[in-house]
Amino acid sequence: MKMTPANANTDSKPFPAQPTPDEALVRLNAGNAAFVADRPMQADVSRDRRLALARGQQPFATLVGCSDSRVGPEQLFGAGLGELFIVRTAGNNVDAAGMGSIEYSVMALHVPLIVVLGHEQCGAVAAASEIVTQDKRFPGSIGRMIEPIVPAVLAAERAGGKSDLVDRAVKENVRRMVERLQTFSEPMLIEPQRKGTLKVVGAVYSLATGEVRWLD
Ligand SMILES: [Zn+2]
Repeated sequence: MKMTPANANTDSKPFPAQPTPDEALVRLNAGNAAFVADRPMQADVSRDRRLALARGQQPFATLVGCSDSRVGPEQLFGAGLGELFIVRTAGNNVDAAGMGSIEYSVMALHVPLIVVLGHEQCGAVAAASEIVTQDKRFPGSIGRMIEPIVPAVLAAERAGGKSDLVDRAVKENVRRMVERLQTFSEPMLIEPQRKGTLKVVGAVYSLATGEVRWLD
């Protein structure tokens, strides 16, 4: 990824204007509905599309998702080349590199929608639950990666005990990431949200049904 303005859609304007946040949500919903219904993918991965995108990109949503191989954002939203700007880490939490990537998508590419997407049976959230319930420790960078999820597990445990802890912690973890992006004291994220040109929403993906359920 070239971090120059030429990479954004500011010069030759090969793209139409960005959709509104709600229009972007409608597009994602339509793509997910087609995926759930097992309809053939309409995603544009053609040569023409590739050539158009060689002049710049204009993704209509930024996805903060989990690295889990079963939760590929382009597949479950039926998105083609150049449509989604994606940050993926196990457990869908972001560090400075992830936050910088999100800010870049908003500042340079004017993405109108950020989606934080958790999923059922998330291994990273399950591991954070094991830290809480079994005092488990994880080696290497895995422990540090999971650490930010622990507060979500603790909140889920306080709210509802140990039954369905992982599934409830998945939702709590998404909610916290959404809140972090909604309140992060960075003008390039705060300002467009204030103006209504950017929305941050959370969702949880169901592995078996393929359905993305939006939170609140
Ligand atoms: Zn996961």
